[in-house]
Amino acid sequence: MNTKKQRKILVIDDSQANLVLLKAHLSSMGLVPLLAENAADGIKIALEQQPDVILLDVMMPEVDGFETCRRLKTDVRTASIPVIFVSAKDQSEDKISGLKLGAIDYVTKPFNRGELQARISIVLQMIELQERLLLLANTDELTGLANRRHFFEILEREMLQAKLRGGSIAVMMFDIDHFKNINDAFGHLIGDQILQQFGKILKENIYPLDMAARYGGEEFIVVMPGMPVEIAAQRADKLRLIIDKYRWEAAGESVSVTCSVGISVFDGTNAADSYEIIRKADDALYTAKYRGRNCTVLYDQINPDEQLQKHQNEDFRELQAKISMLAQQIKAQTLGTITAFAKAIAAKDAYLVDHAENVKTYATAIARQMAVSQALTEQLQTAAMLHDLGKIVIPNDILHKQAPLTDDERRIIERHPVLSAEILAPIGLFSQEIVIIRHHHENFDGTGYPNGLVGRNIPIGSRILAVANCFDAMTSEHWCIHNLKSADEAVDEIVSLAGAQFDPEVAKAFRSVYAENCDAWPLSQKKKVECPV
Ligand code: GH3
Ligand code: MG
Ligand code: MG
Repeated sequence: MNTKKQRKILVIDDSQANLVLLKAHLSSMGLVPLLAENAADGIKIALEQQPDVILLDVMMPEVDGFETCRRLKTDVRTASIPVIFVSAKDQSEDKISGLKLGAIDYVTKPFNRGELQARISIVLQMIELQERLLLLANTDELTGLANRRHFFEILEREMLQAKLRGGSIAVMMFDIDHFKNINDAFGHLIGDQILQQFGKILKENIYPLDMAARYGGEEFIVVMPGMPVEIAAQRADKLRLIIDKYRWEAAGESVSVTCSVGISVFDGTNAADSYEIIRKADDALYTAKYRGRNCTVLYDQINPDEQLQKHQNEDFRELQAKISMLAQQIKAQTLGTITAFAKAIAAKDAYLVDHAENVKTYATAIARQMAVSQALTEQLQTAAMLHDLGKIVIPNDILHKQAPLTDDERRIIERHPVLSAEILAPIGLFSQEIVIIRHHHENFDGTGYPNGLVGRNIPIGSRILAVANCFDAMTSEHWCIHNLKSADEAVDEIVSLAGAQFDPEVAKAFRSVYAENCDAWPLSQKKKVECPV
């Protein structure tokens, strides 16, 4: 496919005969001729049509070619269009005067057709090369987005438009949260892939008039011309959520990638220059980091305390990032240690050993189906691994009792979510997971334990864990369950209990993921657990 751009050549000449002749020559070269009989018309067409080259006659009544050239070169909108003089004036001084005015070439009349065509071709090739170089100079190599330099050019052009015509411009600055951790954990190449994907997501989700650019390392900018404050804030937050909910993968592992966003809006009067807008967006971004990351802050909403904090804590960001990285590492190590410990103790109860892994798989599938955030999915996975920790401390004769439980015994068993939460509390790293675990036996209609929470007051992670937990219990063979169910029966029962024991939305999501995985589920069914005599 020939994607070559059709070039437009403007001819300004007072002689009709010359216009007709040049029109024919240009058309035969596959170029688009634009014709003007005098300087005024020529300048008007140049402004409106932005031709690639101008062929300019020197001797014309009223305004001559030299003056026309001077006017074209002093207007920023036409200054960069190459001008070739085509004139009967063939003295060296004339040529020198023309070239001094900024013309790129000078052809004398009567011209040789071949020579004129060759000269025009050279100028066109030069333009093509310039355009390719400009594209390279304007593009960020890694992401293919506009780079910082080009971003400032566009912003300044848009600000000028906004000043002249009115209207506002929103600038959104995105910074990936704890990106250093991704590099540290997976290496720079994987980090680069995340940056590429981040850029792609921004590009695919902005509107045609908006522009996305890579501002620096893991910082991106979106310029939205004509965008009032309220809509800008909504759109920025929508982009943030798309990033949050995207299923990020690094070297085959799913990872959480979030970003913080700062927005400033220029309304034609409130900022002196482009740097001022950027500084404000950066201040707002800093505040978003300070408020806990993965959020959007509008410059106008920063309160004075937060401003003060910024100046007081120059090293705050770095320290916070380091602590957060350490915390993540410690969390991963601790989870490994606790899980291994729990498995060792639970080895006497083979059901518990596989149960945690199975529940984790089911809960992850439901979370993905419900498109909850990556952060919540990860908390849910940890909670699934640890939710039955409390059972370790419940006496075996109660836990494994085959005869019906007394009220006292039932109350002891029902303490296990709270016991699990309490065992984990001193570690201080699992605050979100503890909440999920504590409430995983609450019922949607308020009849569950430990707090009898109702409906959406039960944390969403707990509502998901409840369904995953129950499905594995119903389909696993162990001594306290005598009515082992097939997977289909278990799913039907969960759906029938929607609104009573389970959240209807979670039950529905589970039915969908079960339909997709019915060949592989239930995970427990192959393993048969020996009952003690
Ligand atoms: P915060 O939430 O405070 O923004 O934490 P952070 O770790 O994202 O911020 P920080 O500014 O401390 O670190 C940014 C990291 O981004 C450091 C640098 O190694 C990494 N980075 C910058 N440019 C690139 C790049 O082109 N490729 C890769 N892979 N990493 C980059
Ligand atoms: Mg940064
Ligand atoms: Mg960052």
